[in-house]
Amino acid sequence: MVPALRYLGSVCGLARGGFPGGFSAACTPAPGKPWLLCQGGRRASTSSFDVVIIGGGIVGLASARALILRHPALSIGVLEKEKDLAIHQTGHNSGVIHSGIYYKPESLKAKLCVQGAALIYEYCNQKGISYKQCGKLIVAVEQEEIPRLKALYERGLQNGVQDLRLIQQEDIKKKEPYCRGLMAIDCPHTGIVDYQQVALSFAQDFQEAGGSVLTSFEVEDIEMAKESPSRSKDGMKYPIVIRNTKGEEVRCQYVVTCAGLHSDRISELSGCNPNPRIVPFRGDYLLLKPEKRYLVKGNIYPVPDSRFPFLGVHFTPRMDGSIWLGPNAVLAFKREGYRPFDFSARDIMDIIIKSGLIKLVFQNFSYGVNEMYKACFLSATVKHLQKFIPEITISDILS
Ligand SMILES: Cc1cc2nc3c(=O)[nH]c(=O)nc-3n(C[C@H](O)[C@H](O)[C@H](O)COP(=O)(O)OP(=O)(O)OC[C@H]3O[C@@H](n4cnc5c(N)ncnc54)[C@H](O)[C@@H]3O)c2cc1C
Repeated sequence: MVPALRYLGSVCGLARGGFPGGFSAACTPAPGKPWLLCQGGRRASTSSFDVVIIGGGIVGLASARALILRHPALSIGVLEKEKDLAIHQTGHNSGVIHSGIYYKPESLKAKLCVQGAALIYEYCNQKGISYKQCGKLIVAVEQEEIPRLKALYERGLQNGVQDLRLIQQEDIKKKEPYCRGLMAIDCPHTGIVDYQQVALSFAQDFQEAGGSVLTSFEVEDIEMAKESPSRSKDGMKYPIVIRNTKGEEVRCQYVVTCAGLHSDRISELSGCNPNPRIVPFRGDYLLLKPEKRYLVKGNIYPVPDSRFPFLGVHFTPRMDGSIWLGPNAVLAFKREGYRPFDFSARDIMDIIIKSGLIKLVFQNFSYGVNEMYKACFLSATVKHLQKFIPEITISDILS
């Protein structure tokens, strides 16, 4: 097995608006009770909120922050199953501020990615959050990749990505002296950031504006109330009942679900469509030895193959100065399992029965086999990396 940092993602992610239906929170946790990170300035009536957001990753926290800043009169609560916020996908990704090249022109994703990149830089400047605008090269190493690279460049221009250039070998060397390539897209405004830090800052803004964050609250059930809570003055004002795995409940009028790798299940609980289903893939990253970090200046990506939902193995500088190489995408046996042998019977049953995995496997069979081969044999991944930086050897990878 290759030495690797292992992170988890999925081939699809959902964030769903919910349906009509409070949140109770005590300022300090009683023994065995969930921990309320902060009770906002304005108290909601005990255990009821106008809006509850399920999921304390970057999507849930950004939604909570935006909602409370636009509608300060609403009482809003975020429910998170872990004791800390932003520890799943948000705390386990490449940390790249993408510029919006890849998405189909005019699509919502393209518009949001271009706008989002500008907004995140603005937000980081406002809050003093460190980032590096280290740029990115998407590099064609084979002649046959050049038409796809040129098409991608056109797409980036159509999406309004600023200052894109199509550059030749000599200019590739000026940007990345150790990188070999025939042609590349130079995207100078791509950056890197610690998304967990950004998400925690969103949580702080949200709480300072009066929002509540309740951690260690794993939502297990969502239903419409049949009667008002005992001794409640609110009657049926908060008709949605959200229960956690310990039998505790909060009530609300509206639910927004942003549950990341569990988004299909929470969507189903909320009465919405569970499709598309989550199929978990683990991203395996390798680490470049510190003494070889000089080989990589900014982000270096391959030309993506539009048939597959992954960007391909890339070179990613991190905010702590390290360089990640990867990820390989390998089917995982647990949605939030970060080690190769993490296993959940429920997740496996869901993958087999509900997820459409068989179709995915048939459609991407050779790609899947290749990814598994690379995950098992370090030499295969290094051979792939050498297409871009020939100087990299197996001994340069941290084990
Ligand atoms: C390997 C990898 C690399 C990536 N690289 C990049 C990148 O470079 N740049 C980029 O922009 N994006 C990247 N992404 C995508 C990005 O990380 C995700 O889009 C983003 O973090 C999703 O945030 P989220 O809030 O939806 O999910 P998450 O961060 O997973 O948050 C969901 C939250 O919901 C909670 N939750 C789930 N079920 C329940 C429940 N029943 N009750 C209460 N809470 C619950 C979870 O505990 C979790 O905290 C990458 C993703 C992966 C996997």
